[in-house]
Amino acid sequence: MTVYGRTGSAQCYAVRDFLYRNDVPFKWVEVVNDESARAIGVDDSVAEERLPICVFSDGTRLERPTIRQISEKLGWFGDPSLTEYDLAIYGAGPAGLSAAVYGASEGLKTVVIERWSVGGQASSSPKIENYLGFPQGISGAELAERAREQACRFGAEILIAREGIRGDFSARKRVGYLSDGTKVVARSAICATGIEYRRLAVPNEERFRGAGVYYGAGASEAQLCVGHHVVVVGGGNSGAQAALHFSKYAPRVTLAVRGDSLKSTVSAYLIDRIYSTKTIEVLTRTEVAALEGDKTLEAVVLVDNQTGEQRRIHTRWLFACIGGSPRTEWANEAGLIRDEAGYLVTGPDLLQAGRAPERWPLDRLPYYLETNVPGLFAAGDVRHDSVKRCASAVGEGAMAVMFVHLYLATG
Ligand SMILES: Cc1cc2nc3c(=O)[nH]c(=O)nc-3n(C[C@H](O)[C@H](O)[C@H](O)COP(=O)(O)OP(=O)(O)OC[C@H]3O[C@@H](n4cnc5c(N)ncnc54)[C@H](O)[C@@H]3O)c2cc1C
Repeated sequence: MTVYGRTGSAQCYAVRDFLYRNDVPFKWVEVVNDESARAIGVDDSVAEERLPICVFSDGTRLERPTIRQISEKLGWFGDPSLTEYDLAIYGAGPAGLSAAVYGASEGLKTVVIERWSVGGQASSSPKIENYLGFPQGISGAELAERAREQACRFGAEILIAREGIRGDFSARKRVGYLSDGTKVVARSAICATGIEYRRLAVPNEERFRGAGVYYGAGASEAQLCVGHHVVVVGGGNSGAQAALHFSKYAPRVTLAVRGDSLKSTVSAYLIDRIYSTKTIEVLTRTEVAALEGDKTLEAVVLVDNQTGEQRRIHTRWLFACIGGSPRTEWANEAGLIRDEAGYLVTGPDLLQAGRAPERWPLDRLPYYLETNVPGLFAAGDVRHDSVKRCASAVGEGAMAVMFVHLYLATG
């Protein structure tokens, strides 16, 4: 498929990001001038409103399509096929996909509901190098696509581009309501909704979102950064990974880190590579003070958080890899216990002086990954005190399914 559009357009970025994360091969064609706009049948004066244009291999042309329209065209959009499932999983990141593989392969009628695309945070990672079994590393998008295929092969249903927004957990049914009005009924559920990238909290950020300011490692964008100065913000492994990846394309990468050094926050193997890559400069004690530009980002102002000294970098590319927080407002409304930051509390962490919380209705204590609603489990980054790693998310997804079996068998 071919996508015609402009870099710096948030709509075009959303489509590129979606296709990249889902491992859909596509050719990106930049619409640079009137002539190239006319060549695809668009008058340049209205190009902005009509781009991106997606042309599929069968010749179908969609102008400024929604993610749902693209999913439908790719044959990925369907309604739930069953009126009731054994297991509903919310989130198709590593934890949700792992739960889907184990649930479906162990005979549970399993459905996965995913707001955006499969793979979660991992699918934005250009290369995951510490995941067991891949000594040369594997791109997050490929890992996600393999997991999706595996889950589907075992019979899991995956509904993408749909968000769970509300839950009703009465009468031993786990009923999820999706943003498009669809209702998913299941006997048990796993919440694997991970975390959402944290914002930089500087003026103009929303205006430049997808138009110069991106969240995560921006793997879909790297090849477009040839010849440009790239700024990466964040002193964790994901920021370091992103800087290294961009350095393969961009002539200069600035890694802005709030702390004094990378040592306590970045794995040693990445630190060595960062400092031996001449085109990467690391600025410690540095934060973003301002974002400048008209319609798209044109410059980033960085500030030394100790001296107050400022520096302006002219760039069209800023990638923020500064962690995230869970979006679990729905859980609050549904009576789930969360910690102060919004992570879901499960198992032993729910106990007070060894006893189940007040609202717990059963004689037994909650299982290890079970929330304070029986039969509703949490796995991966969304869980209080979880280890924020791919392998641990995958492990928790698999483990949660074991507790689902116990719950379905004994209550
Ligand atoms: C750039 C980057 C690089 C990384 N590199 C590594 C690495 O090299 N090694 C490593 O071990 N870890 C790495 N990590 C961390 C790792 O990716 C995460 O720990 C892991 O993805 C967590 O998995 P998860 O399934 O719990 O959550 P997520 O990956 O966050 O997935 C959650 C999914 O739930 C979906 N969702 C959210 N809300 C809803 C809703 N209401 N309804 C439906 N769906 C919803 C989201 O769209 C998302 O797809 C990296 C992270 C980033 C950002």
